[in-house]
Amino acid sequence: MIAETEAVVLHAMPYGDTSKIVTLYTKRYGKLKVIAKGARGEKNKFGASMEPLSVSSVILYKKEHRDLHLLSKSETVLPLHRIQQDTDRLFTGLALIELTAMVMHDEHEDAGVYALLVDSLRALDAADRNAVNVLLTYTVKLFGHFGFGLDLSRCAVCGRDVTAGELPFVLLRSSDGTVICDRCHADGHTNGQRIDGGAFRSLQFFRQCAVGSCTSLTLPPAAKDRILAALQTYLQYHVEGARTLRSLSLLYTATEQRPT
Ligand SMILES: [Zn+2]
Repeated sequence: MIAETEAVVLHAMPYGDTSKIVTLYTKRYGKLKVIAKGARGEKNKFGASMEPLSVSSVILYKKEHRDLHLLSKSETVLPLHRIQQDTDRLFTGLALIELTAMVMHDEHEDAGVYALLVDSLRALDAADRNAVNVLLTYTVKLFGHFGFGLDLSRCAVCGRDVTAGELPFVLLRSSDGTVICDRCHADGHTNGQRIDGGAFRSLQFFRQCAVGSCTSLTLPPAAKDRILAALQTYLQYHVEGARTLRSLSLLYTATEQRPT
């Protein structure tokens, strides 16, 4: 079957002398792998459209019951030149696509996740600061698409509204994504990851904001690391086989080495 769709390039590896095997997250068919013959070398007929982080329109020969399809044509539809020009943006982008490749099942279509991913890449390309917020926002919103979204409005034990006022900290419960307030924690309900008040308010912001405006919030570096760690732990609780993202080590290194 000849299939036409739009796709984000998640991963590409060389194959033979002139080809590539490329993992795509497509709008119509979800994640799938294609062989792009002639995608390397001087006669590369796909240009930059099969490079990781590209958003491309693709035509492929899709074979039933196969896990490798043949790419016929592709071209870039959304130029994202700025992502590559800065290490924060680039490493955040690599983390976004690595996360997507890790958690999405093969050929499981989800147009909502596709739109969220493209919106995130667009926000990343436009980011002049706080690029990592795009990863945090994408991750929090992805939980919602998967059916285990965070509920950050009320304490799961006493029902107290935790959206207003200054809480010193809350506990995030991995089992159901709800939170336990500091008072209930003192009463002996200790099941969850401790998040300080500032990091918790940032999480509330990322859950509600439009992806395009998430970079307006500046987090202290330590808060960013704590939120990333909390989201990873939560993800690993709910997604079998989820591991720590390799790209995150690049992101941490880039942040630590930046002169202050
Ligand atoms: Zn409570």
